[in-house]
Amino acid sequence: MATFSLTTETTPKRPQLAHLTAQLDALRAQGTYFRLRVLDDQQAPVCHYDGREVINLASNNYLGLCNDSRLREAAIAATKEYGVGSGAVRTIAGTMKIHMELEERIAAFKGVEACVVFQSGFTANAGTVSSILGKEDFILSDELNHASIIDGARLSRAKIKVFRHKDVAHCKELLKEVANEPGRKLVITDGVFSMDGDIGPVAALCDLCDKYGAIMMVDDAHASGVLGRNGRGSVDHFGCTQRVDVQVGTLSKAIGVLGGYVCGSRDLIDYLYHRARPFLFSTSHPPAVAAACIAAFEILEREPDRIERLWANTRYFQDQLRSAGFDIGGRSTPASETPITPIIVGDGRKTMEFSRALFDNGVMATGIAFPTVPEGKARVRCIMTSEHTREQIDRALETMTSTARKMGLLG
Ligand code: PMP
Repeated sequence: MATFSLTTETTPKRPQLAHLTAQLDALRAQGTYFRLRVLDDQQAPVCHYDGREVINLASNNYLGLCNDSRLREAAIAATKEYGVGSGAVRTIAGTMKIHMELEERIAAFKGVEACVVFQSGFTANAGTVSSILGKEDFILSDELNHASIIDGARLSRAKIKVFRHKDVAHCKELLKEVANEPGRKLVITDGVFSMDGDIGPVAALCDLCDKYGAIMMVDDAHASGVLGRNGRGSVDHFGCTQRVDVQVGTLSKAIGVLGGYVCGSRDLIDYLYHRARPFLFSTSHPPAVAAACIAAFEILEREPDRIERLWANTRYFQDQLRSAGFDIGGRSTPASETPITPIIVGDGRKTMEFSRALFDNGVMATGIAFPTVPEGKARVRCIMTSEHTREQIDRALETMTSTARKMGLLG
């Protein structure tokens, strides 16, 4: 395997960027500085990072589609037929038939009128929130919503009101406060929260939106392929397809490839074609990406047993962690309801040490500290997939328990 170096020996340290060096030094002092782990082979339940074999509990490859042979074949066939690049942004010359086919496929899957695919889930959120509202409008956003929603909200210049996590009554209070203001109101929640794995109160927020005439938006990045019929997401899980105006999803997690999408009315999608900045100003996906995504949606429809395996593994893993005495949420943090399984450690430095020790013992599980999660709520985040075997899960559990005991993290 070829090795390469990420050192910057030849770049002189110039005073212009000294503030960055100082911040990195501060991270080192706090014990939260990290180095990127490099995957040597495939995104799989057992794989190699930095030359070490590990049981992989860190990827979003929920259904094992990242390296499914049918997705590979679809990508290769599309590359052979259409080349490797799309050559332009969608609105100039970069819309290929296969892009349109993917959008139609997703819209049909989700049971909505139309869909637009973005380069990533991040750009889908940021590009949508920033373009559908203006400075006279209001955004009511859950405090734990994803960074891409926060950035989109800031870019929109709308007035941002943050409600306490999953606190529908607080959201209602805020909606009431602005009810008589002239601007539009948008309520937005993650379908599944990425750091805690709990599910957003989609139906209750839909009730509020109906009552106050607010736009309802759900980011289903971690719910797509995981919740709902055949993985249609949290909106489907709650039976709210007709009540959510803007449904965002990602193609980068359970779907196994790359990209994000927005589903909704034809007018919403046409509007985004005209106004969403990442759509207008950044080149579209290579045909291989679109082809692999189409193959993934076919698998979702045909193989619901993958999702059943994902949930069976999740239940087993979480039950075992709880019986071993780990705090996997539900005490001082929200309780996980999905395959995202946080192991709450609290202190950032200890969390990073735990994650490193797990890695050294053959388990890849990422440490996540402030500012990604609140101060004092640092955690090692694990994600189950449908493809982990019981034997792999048991081995991971054993390592986690013995490592945590040695470090004094378990009684
Ligand atoms: N929303 C949420 C809730 C996410 O967790 C993520 C991924 N971290 C995204 C959006 C962005 O998706 P993508 O990785 O496709 O850009």
